[in-house]
Amino acid sequence: MTTLTAEQISHLTGLMDERFDLEMDGIRAVAARLRDERRQENLAGHPADQLDQALANIARAADYAVVRQDIEDVRDIVAARKRLAAGRYGVCIDCGEAIAYARLLVYPTAKRCIECQREHERHQAVREGRRAS
Ligand SMILES: [Zn+2]
Repeated sequence: MTTLTAEQISHLTGLMDERFDLEMDGIRAVAARLRDERRQENLAGHPADQLDQALANIARAADYAVVRQDIEDVRDIVAARKRLAAGRYGVCIDCGEAIAYARLLVYPTAKRCIECQREHERHQAVREGRRAS
């Protein structure tokens, strides 16, 4: 269970909404540069699942590192909104413990508590190390 108050959730949602708009502007700019009007239309006012599909299409087409990061961020926010709607926001997906508010202020889309995130990154580093060697 999350220990967040309604006020804290509303503040975090505001942070995510601001970032979402900012990133979407960046993505739209790149989409415009790609001169693919259809993909641009796909971004406008679609439910989360379709938005995710539209973003996936752009990610495949775009070879801009910057827009890839923007898209990652937007997808994180979309996923966080889904967790919010499902009442699972602010709860670690690995251990089920509440994610500290201080952590969410820095990473509003965090899906793991700090301990599980460290563990996750350690495993990821091991995997990447294996791939590299
Ligand atoms: Zn955890």
